[in-house]
Amino acid sequence: MVKSMNNKPMLNAYPDSMGGKLSEIVSLLGSKELNGVFGSFYILPSVYHSDLDRGFSVIDYDINEELAAPQDLEDLKKLGIDLKLDFILNHASTRSPQFTDLVNRGEQSPYKDFFINWNDFWQGCGSMTEEGYIQPDKKYLEKMFFRKPGLPILMVKFPDGKKVPYWNTFYQEEHYPLYLGQMDLNIKSPKVWDFYKETLKKIASYGAEIVRLDAFAYAPKEPGEKNFLNEPGTWELLSRIQELADPYQLTLLPEIHATYEEQIYKKLSDKGYMTYDFFLPGLVIDAIENKRSTYLAAWARELVETDIKVVNMLGCHDGIPLLDLKGILSETDIQNLIHVIVERGGLVKNLHGQKNMYYQVNATYFSALGESEQKMLMARAIQLFMPGKPQIWYLDLFAGKNDHEAVKQAGASGHKEINRTNLSLTQVHNAMNQEVVKKQMDMIRFRNTCKAFEEGAEVCIEESDGLLRIIWQNQGVSAELTVDFMNEKYEIKGT
Ligand code: BGC
Repeated sequence: MVKSMNNKPMLNAYPDSMGGKLSEIVSLLGSKELNGVFGSFYILPSVYHSDLDRGFSVIDYDINEELAAPQDLEDLKKLGIDLKLDFILNHASTRSPQFTDLVNRGEQSPYKDFFINWNDFWQGCGSMTEEGYIQPDKKYLEKMFFRKPGLPILMVKFPDGKKVPYWNTFYQEEHYPLYLGQMDLNIKSPKVWDFYKETLKKIASYGAEIVRLDAFAYAPKEPGEKNFLNEPGTWELLSRIQELADPYQLTLLPEIHATYEEQIYKKLSDKGYMTYDFFLPGLVIDAIENKRSTYLAAWARELVETDIKVVNMLGCHDGIPLLDLKGILSETDIQNLIHVIVERGGLVKNLHGQKNMYYQVNATYFSALGESEQKMLMARAIQLFMPGKPQIWYLDLFAGKNDHEAVKQAGASGHKEINRTNLSLTQVHNAMNQEVVKKQMDMIRFRNTCKAFEEGAEVCIEESDGLLRIIWQNQGVSAELTVDFMNEKYEIKGT
């Protein structure tokens, strides 16, 4: 059972997204403009000591004093704002104490098995190359899902000069003798489980209510498997993590992208986890751009009928997930949506030379909607009326546009920077005077204060000819949204 929690809108930002430091965001949240707008805050993991991937390569889970202070978290609590924080259980930075020890002490390191020695893993399943890593046989590789071209390994030089390959699913950079990379953890090592236990305790001590399990499905690995969402390994992993999280009453939010037709969201929900609604961002664009409410309404109905507990969003720190919609929209519809967003300046990362394998289009949500304020407001209204806890990316709130300059500056794998622009306090204050921002904040406040949205509400979805109506009723109060996709209009009524 997902425990009942504050269902109020949740801000999502890096600690330095607005004003350069977390303390500035905290002051903003307490200011008269933003007071009472957000009930929760998902702070991205650069709030910890981290290096690559803007936080997702954690060195340790202490607070990153360059951007934040423990006092900021206390101050958020005083504002009545609870937290969602990341637990990145698949990997740790090469600069983590454990990996540093491994590099310094090689075979003598107590952390020798904390990470995944590629050659030990594939022993007997392939042939040794001249470079010193095992090339797994074709029959194994064919089954596997990779996040980048080539084998996911980083050759690490031990003190005796020997080079040893370690598994590294995500980013890496080699600046010999310095390695940077997100090194996969070996969940078969008891030390990793001690680390998990300690980490969850620390995250709970920061006041986290929700813990996002970043890329958890990559963690269980076995030769001969896909090594992404292995079964039953992934479910065993989750239930062990749940046991560790229970003493702190943490709600786990496993993060996984999979197509609708795979029904993974359902499996997660059936097993009692909260899930992400990664279908909503694409379905809203589909409804607005194609002037039809059919698919969006069907998904809303499914959520109401099945009572799946979700966190939903429009934009976020990653791209807009569109391949997740396989099984809802046709392949042609999905490719057309990708085409529209790319025409408006969005970027598609090329995975193994095949663009249609990658599931995200990098763009701000506002730019994806053609920078139309009316469309942005329609999208926000829909999100706020959809069942679930709404998570709001700061740049969407401020109607941020694609930042191509930042992509250029960031170099080779900088595509995500298109939607991660840091705003100065002046930019934030100026933005807050714009109609598109004020109207979004009014809607969020309405969602926050109207009793119709409180626990125990009944939600009703009506749909016909390009019209969508979502009605919330509770304690004799109702809130009603009508969206007319044909005429690009929306209306919110409360009684
Ligand atoms: C995060 C990404 C990150 C990856 C590796 C995810 O799914 O959302 O931003 O690059 O995990 O940590």
